[in-house]
Amino acid sequence: MMVDSFSKPHADRNHIAVIGDGVIGLLTALELLKRDCQVTLLGRGFGEGQASWASGGILSPLCPWQAQPSVQALWSWSSWLYPELCDELLTCTGTDIELMQKGMLWLDAPDQERISSWADEDQCRVECLGREQVSQRIPMLDTEFGQAHFLPAVSQLRALRLMMALAMRLQQFPYFQMKVPSQLRQIRELPSGSMILETDAASLSVDQVVVCAGAWTNRILSLLNAELPIIPVKGQMLLLDGDGVQLSCIVIKNNKYLIPRQDGGILVGSTIESGIDDVEVTEAAETVLKAAAVDLIPALAVNKVRHQWAGVRPGSANGVPYIGRLAGYPSLWVNAGHYRNGINMAPGSARLVAQLIHCEPPGVDPQPYVWMA
Ligand SMILES: Cc1cc2nc3c(=O)[nH]c(=O)nc-3n(C[C@H](O)[C@H](O)[C@H](O)COP(=O)(O)OP(=O)(O)OC[C@H]3O[C@@H](n4cnc5c(N)ncnc54)[C@H](O)[C@@H]3O)c2cc1C
Repeated sequence: MMVDSFSKPHADRNHIAVIGDGVIGLLTALELLKRDCQVTLLGRGFGEGQASWASGGILSPLCPWQAQPSVQALWSWSSWLYPELCDELLTCTGTDIELMQKGMLWLDAPDQERISSWADEDQCRVECLGREQVSQRIPMLDTEFGQAHFLPAVSQLRALRLMMALAMRLQQFPYFQMKVPSQLRQIRELPSGSMILETDAASLSVDQVVVCAGAWTNRILSLLNAELPIIPVKGQMLLLDGDGVQLSCIVIKNNKYLIPRQDGGILVGSTIESGIDDVEVTEAAETVLKAAAVDLIPALAVNKVRHQWAGVRPGSANGVPYIGRLAGYPSLWVNAGHYRNGINMAPGSARLVAQLIHCEPPGVDPQPYVWMA
């Protein structure tokens, strides 16, 4: 087995391998590069069921009032970090990730009695809209609903653009290297604390490893006989032609949503297929999603499906990700299990793991993200 020349340490630079090239891996790599580390990113390339690529790009939990406090903490922190990241990516790569604050309108939201107390506690604005106000906002919306709650602060972005911009941004750092595709065969920890990663082609010696492999995290951890309660949860989406339909914000009813895109298309999401990790698109999902879209805006019945796709979410207990050192492995870290909120929690999650690795004061309390077996 040859030893990769890149694995030779650059002076005293901390060499960290990040495994996984979804949004969590890319942002973790960026945070580590900004802390002067040498980073080798092991990935499998875009597509391949990656959740990040498939995501709707809503920068909020669907029902933020029901989210765990630890999810809310990473979401709030990330909401604060996103505008700066968006500017950085535009300036450095010329890519606009289409970060837009259009708001989110919930029709007949679950657990309504908690919404106002949550809004008061967390100082989030929620407007209860009457039927007429809703019609003014979205004239073609079906009027068969009881209550409407509008969250004006909710933003969205174009996930694919975020991924492409991040991949470009990383290439601008001299101590960054990407390895795609790579099949990891073995992970070993040396008595010195260094980690050896053996892939198909080479053996990498690094100081630390961060596993950010989303729904596939346990495949990596199984090489160390370790496991986290992360399960694959497939999700399918549709992109509809938006012709003739004006949609000014995200709309949700019965956990199915419509997202307006800057190019005029309308995203419809999403299915929840627990335990499934394939990326087949099905007619059944197309039927369910199209029906949900028509239920919200009847005029969409004649609009064509431009595209359908699937991604695999890293499902975790209560949607709380695992962020921190893997017990028993001083040089191995995990940043995975973001389930339905990986895009909206990504900047905070990446910064948190980088802060922990560098013994910096953490931006949020790290305790809730520790895995207690
Ligand atoms: C249909 C759908 C809609 C969604 N909508 C939203 C939304 O609106 N807002 C939101 O916040 N979240 C949303 N999510 C959830 C969000 O996409 C995920 O939580 C997030 O993308 C997880 O990111 P990740 O980097 O952990 O995982 P992934 O994006 O899945 O990335 C994991 C990466 O690890 C790589 N990998 C796996 N095995 C290996 C290996 N052996 N070696 C190297 N690399 C490996 C994979 O190739 C992949 O690139 C949605 C998800 C889906 C499926």
